[in-house]
Amino acid sequence: TYVVTENCIQCKYTDCAEVCPVECFHEGPNFLAIDPVECIDCAACVPECPADAIFAEDDVPEDQRDFTALNAELSKHWPVILRKKAAPADADEWNGKPGKRPLLRR
Ligand code: SF4
Repeated sequence: TYVVTENCIQCKYTDCAEVCPVECFHEGPNFLAIDPVECIDCAACVPECPADAIFAEDDVPEDQRDFTALNAELSKHWPVILRKKAAPADADEWNGKPGKRPLLRR
């Protein structure tokens, strides 16, 4: 599966959801999560993410390994998103900021 990691928090650009050939992406208040059951490992979403937040499970950075389980959990509770929508107005300001993990809203 592919995994959305920390830099999506507060950015949530949604370009990924538009290109996903299956219905993997689920939308929360300030983060997107991939349903690992639905993901077919096509990698189409990876280059679309302006925040470079999506990794193959095996390539998730060491300090973000917990996001694999987090995607699985959160995707169960959040609605599917199929289309790109406007990013939060301050998304570009948050892109690349460290330490966003505590800001994740459920
Ligand atoms: Fe969807 Fe492909 Fe990304 Fe999986 S790797 S979330 S199937 S676009």
